[in-house]
Amino acid sequence: MSSANVADESTGRRVSELVARLPDLRGRLKSGVALADLTWFRVGGPAQVLYTPADEADLAYFLARVPAEIPITVIGLGSNLLVRDGGIEGVVIRLGRGFGEITIEEGYRLRAGAAVPDVKVARAAADAGIAGLSFYRGIPGSVGGALRMNGGAHGRETKEVVIEVRAVDRQGRIHVLPVQVLGYAYRHCGASDDLIFTEALFQGEAGDPARILAEMDDIATYREQAQPIKSRTGGSTFKNPEGYKAWQLIDAAGCRGLSIGNAKVSEMHCNFLINEGNATGAELEELGETVRARVKAKSGVELEWEIKRLGEPLEAGNTFFGKSPRG
Ligand SMILES: Cc1cc2nc3c(=O)[nH]c(=O)nc-3n(C[C@H](O)[C@H](O)[C@H](O)COP(=O)(O)OP(=O)(O)OC[C@H]3O[C@@H](n4cnc5c(N)ncnc54)[C@H](O)[C@@H]3O)c2cc1C
Repeated sequence: MSSANVADESTGRRVSELVARLPDLRGRLKSGVALADLTWFRVGGPAQVLYTPADEADLAYFLARVPAEIPITVIGLGSNLLVRDGGIEGVVIRLGRGFGEITIEEGYRLRAGAAVPDVKVARAAADAGIAGLSFYRGIPGSVGGALRMNGGAHGRETKEVVIEVRAVDRQGRIHVLPVQVLGYAYRHCGASDDLIFTEALFQGEAGDPARILAEMDDIATYREQAQPIKSRTGGSTFKNPEGYKAWQLIDAAGCRGLSIGNAKVSEMHCNFLINEGNATGAELEELGETVRARVKAKSGVELEWEIKRLGEPLEAGNTFFGKSPRG
């Protein structure tokens, strides 16, 4: 099948037929997978095709052979994602078990696959007497998401504790990169968008396991009191602008508790948006934009989305997948 044909085709079945022709593929391919089931907000349309690579070599094989016309999107645990109701065109890649290893190395180092949940990194480090990674106890994402977002909390961020990463690019080439080339800034990674992180090497320091575990307990307790962590949310919606706290600007603009349909600004922490039941992606996004406009009008500050918004809106003309957002 030629690349031109691929660009013309619109159904997930066709794309999955194409990728199924990759004879040595070991990972799983599925079309029309509901992304609402894979994100914290529980909203959004389907992935045209969802690919779960078996391991890094399988991922590299896939990327090297899928025509450049097919859009590729990678997701982690979906804790920082707002997927639009029309779903995501092309292939969505979600790393699974093949990227789930943790190894302790000499010199207070920990190596973790990109699918490992951050909280497991914190626990494994504590068990091994490695201090400096306990802040991951409070971030409900995966290592891959932390690398892309420069995830941070409680005074530390990913760029301070990662020393090296492995990644695969859109052509299927594997890279080993030192942290210095990743262009990290506050909740930002400057590495090329097409890089899919597969592994990270973390550097900690000597610590007492009991003390680290106590620190992690404190973090968990603090989170329960300060954030709606049991809700359908995407965490902090907006980045803190230089010199401000986003939540204070949102509060001052009168947005605490504001709602559109079933989407609501959290009463507990007003930089969090919440899906109170069956909100749509469109309602959550409109609520976020309303908050941005009100903050701009009140304080003159433009809030920048921290949450990543992915995919297509569900519009009259978009029969892309033929599914309702709540379907
Ligand atoms: C209750 C709650 C509390 C939160 N608290 C914090 C906090 O304290 N600090 C903080 O920083 N964040 C916080 N977050 C946000 C979120 O947990 C982080 O941004 C996290 O790092 C996202 O990881 P994820 O695996 O869920 O990634 P996803 O949300 O699935 O994706 C986020 C981004 O990472 C990219 N990505 C994911 N995996 C890979 C990969 N393997 N290679 C390349 N790119 C990848 C995606 O394309 C997307 O752009 C919170 C979220 C919630 C719901």
